[in-house]
Amino acid sequence: MNRRQVLLALTTATAGGLALGTFFPRRLDMFDQLKSGTPTQRMPVLFVGHGSPMNAIDTNPYTLALNQLGNQLPRPRAILVISAHWMTDGTWVTEMPKPKTIHDFYGFPKELFDIQYPAPGSPEIAKLIQDSVQSPPIQGDSESWGLDHGTWAVLRHMYPQADIPVLQLSLDLKQPAEYHIQIGRQLSQLRDHGVLILGSGNLVHNLRSIRWEPRAPAHDWALEFDEWLKAKLIDRDSSALMNDFHKTQAGRLSIPSLDHYLPLHYILSAADPKDELKFEYEEIQNASISMRSFSLRPARS
Ligand code: ZN
Repeated sequence: MNRRQVLLALTTATAGGLALGTFFPRRLDMFDQLKSGTPTQRMPVLFVGHGSPMNAIDTNPYTLALNQLGNQLPRPRAILVISAHWMTDGTWVTEMPKPKTIHDFYGFPKELFDIQYPAPGSPEIAKLIQDSVQSPPIQGDSESWGLDHGTWAVLRHMYPQADIPVLQLSLDLKQPAEYHIQIGRQLSQLRDHGVLILGSGNLVHNLRSIRWEPRAPAHDWALEFDEWLKAKLIDRDSSALMNDFHKTQAGRLSIPSLDHYLPLHYILSAADPKDELKFEYEEIQNASISMRSFSLRPARS
């Protein structure tokens, strides 16, 4: 289906469901909102560095910046997170109505394991995503995953009420850059339906080189690569960001594996050339983890 067909299908679904409105009011509400493209402004896209799970329970300049960001942005109808922590064969989207909170880490305080982020899911938005991405196919996951800490550690600061539907999209690390770019481009249309697309990873992420003190001085190569990223983002040089990151020693040390970097491909591909870049936060934590976070927002007309 192309975009027009998706909208048509949604319109048809709504019209067909009118007589059943008494029985399915919530579903009708959602389809009504989805098909009516005008009431929402085009949403920004975000890349957020999540860093150590401890950020989920800390209060620090980073968590305060996230809280401020959640208050500033137009309120989304749903949030789609491409998290570094869900890796699969093929690409999947969570489609359960109540995604569980996944504590996918070890050796941290009990307080972290006690956290629940009870945001609802949205089977309707999952279907919209599957219909919007024509190729490759996006498979629906109704039970295996939920919300991992790449998602809830960020969202509990941005949206502490946990009252906005949240979905996750998985990463297939075996695929070439073009695969991720292709999905990102097709996801872009969701921005007109009130969906906030959020990549959660870290643009410098070397766990072998971390220092446990969060404010430890950054490694030189981490600073060097983070500055390169910043310059390329300002230049809107997506090609360099997606293809040249391993060409320097600093880049190879900063990205020893692709999982925390790849969400960037989705965000850059879902962005519009005229979107305005805003750095929401920048810091190197634990000497080798960049918390660089940015938004690309529709230009004000
Ligand atoms: Zn992580």
